[in-house]
Amino acid sequence: MNNEVVMDEVLYYPELVRLDATWRCNLRCKHCQTGMFREPGSHYSDLSTEELEELFKQLSRLGTKQVGFLGGEPLLRHDLVSLARTLHSLGIRPSITSNGWLINDRIAYVLTQEVPVDIAVSLDGPDHSRHDNIRGKGSFERAVKALQRLVNYRGRSRTVLIGISAVIHRYCQTNVIEYLDLANELGVDYMVMAIVHPVGTAKQYWDELSIDQGQVLPLARTILKHFQSGKFSFSLRLNFTYSRYA
Ligand code: SF4
Repeated sequence: MNNEVVMDEVLYYPELVRLDATWRCNLRCKHCQTGMFREPGSHYSDLSTEELEELFKQLSRLGTKQVGFLGGEPLLRHDLVSLARTLHSLGIRPSITSNGWLINDRIAYVLTQEVPVDIAVSLDGPDHSRHDNIRGKGSFERAVKALQRLVNYRGRSRTVLIGISAVIHRYCQTNVIEYLDLANELGVDYMVMAIVHPVGTAKQYWDELSIDQGQVLPLARTILKHFQSGKFSFSLRLNFTYSRYA
């Protein structure tokens, strides 16, 4: 059977594809979902450069418009910039969700100026104590620095979008207003807020991290009321579906 995809026969196609570029990560966050699809004790290896390039070609034939690299930490892949270039050559827009630790000046410049990639940096609280409690010492400072660099190199061109990916957990649920204010100060283009879910590593820490179900709607109302004050220059998406059990 030949591998050619005939578009007339495709009823649904993967317009946006999110893929775990690697299982590896330099952090050990309490709410990490990376392990949720793994069999305990099993070994998994990352797809090679060639395998991913072949996948991208197939996605291009299917009509995919955007590929988002998740992980693990995608920037631990040494071929990430080259993979982003391949996606551009196929007319597919690349994006990355990163913990920000590895985004130095050179990486920030390359990803905003040379090989444009939309980037979301994870921030799990508006200050050191809340974020570092979940992600490890020093990670808040590295994430904020990464966002400052990215916004700086992006400049006013807006050819790439810089955002914050935020997980709301028990430690930061009372500080959501500061969270929005910090995003505004940093000058990001968008912010996505999601409620912590009891999957992956978060299952072990669920008593520590979980938000009471009855608090979810009031929290969303508080956020939206503050956001509608008119002083914010970024777009906001709330992903507040709540699952009590994995
Ligand atoms: S949540 Fe992200 S940054 Fe944290 S350990 Fe998991 S993959 Fe790494």
